[in-house]
Amino acid sequence: MTLEELVRPNILNLSPYTCARNEFTGEARAWLDANENSRITGLNRYPDPLQTKVKEQLGKYRNVSPERIFLGVGSDECIDIAYRVFCRPGIDNVVAIEPTYGMYQVCADINDIEYRRVSLRKDFSLDSEALLSACDNNTKIIWICTPNNPTGNAFSREQLCDICNRFNGITVIDEAYIDFSTKGSMTEYLDSFPNLIVMQTFSKAWASAAIRLGISYASSSIIDIYNKVKYPYNINELTQRQALKVLDDITHIEETTQEILDARDNLITELETIDNIVLGIYPSDANFILVKVTEADAIYNYLRDCGVIVRNRSRVHLCGNCLRITVGNTEENRLLIDKLSDYGNNR
Ligand code: PMP
Repeated sequence: MTLEELVRPNILNLSPYTCARNEFTGEARAWLDANENSRITGLNRYPDPLQTKVKEQLGKYRNVSPERIFLGVGSDECIDIAYRVFCRPGIDNVVAIEPTYGMYQVCADINDIEYRRVSLRKDFSLDSEALLSACDNNTKIIWICTPNNPTGNAFSREQLCDICNRFNGITVIDEAYIDFSTKGSMTEYLDSFPNLIVMQTFSKAWASAAIRLGISYASSSIIDIYNKVKYPYNINELTQRQALKVLDDITHIEETTQEILDARDNLITELETIDNIVLGIYPSDANFILVKVTEADAIYNYLRDCGVIVRNRSRVHLCGNCLRITVGNTEENRLLIDKLSDYGNNR
């Protein structure tokens, strides 16, 4: 489908708010256009509404041109804006894998959009045929999270390209954990698939969850529409400044990512030795592991009482008796292993 067919008519016809900083850019001798306070505090001016500098640096690093980048207040805004742009409340639907990240469903519910779940196979592989046959003429978006939360596995780019090829709506690939994976980013295929949106975030490998900065990469036509719909100054000045600092120190990020991967391997090795409570560890392409244990609720409660908080996923589809454990720092991982070993020894 063309973008004109996919975008909600009210959004296509929207006359966006034009903020002062959109109307004039460049150097001025007196900024008297935005009713700001001229007392210099370092934060008295509105931030750049289009985050030009951040997009330039990010685009260079990810090899995507700035006009193909949208920045949102966390991935949350990137998810929500996709619904608001493409899905007509009460009419359209979206299709997503199950289990997956919970916000796709929450945002669907908030926006009154039907949310269709398609189960992964038992080994967490993706059944493309099942996914595509869940779609109908009103399916606007397919959500695929890779590496997937909470299962931890990444899907192959061949399989994702095949889905992009065969689905005529919008395919959104959430790559929040992509830097921990050996499978490359789907951003490489933005040229090939005009209906592809790839999401990433500053919250995971880039260690900046607090600044709330999410990314959508897509065709410049989709990004233009997103820019019409977003709040005018969605990304605040402090976040933009911090994002530039992060991008300036990307080598450090790459090093720490490798450290997390090494720590993940050690954690897996150690967990495997506690075999009277750890029944299996699913392969992970992310900074967390999904661990099947003998009695998830009891172990979750025990760890919590020891001050070690993991995520109990045992009531999630296909994840019976599973705990999702984030790879922590050396002390955190040690504490986890010690407490689990104690638990195992006292059984
Ligand atoms: N996508 C996935 C798959 C996630 O697991 C998470 C966080 N748990 C997010 C997005 C959220 O990212 P952000 O902090 O950018 O909102």
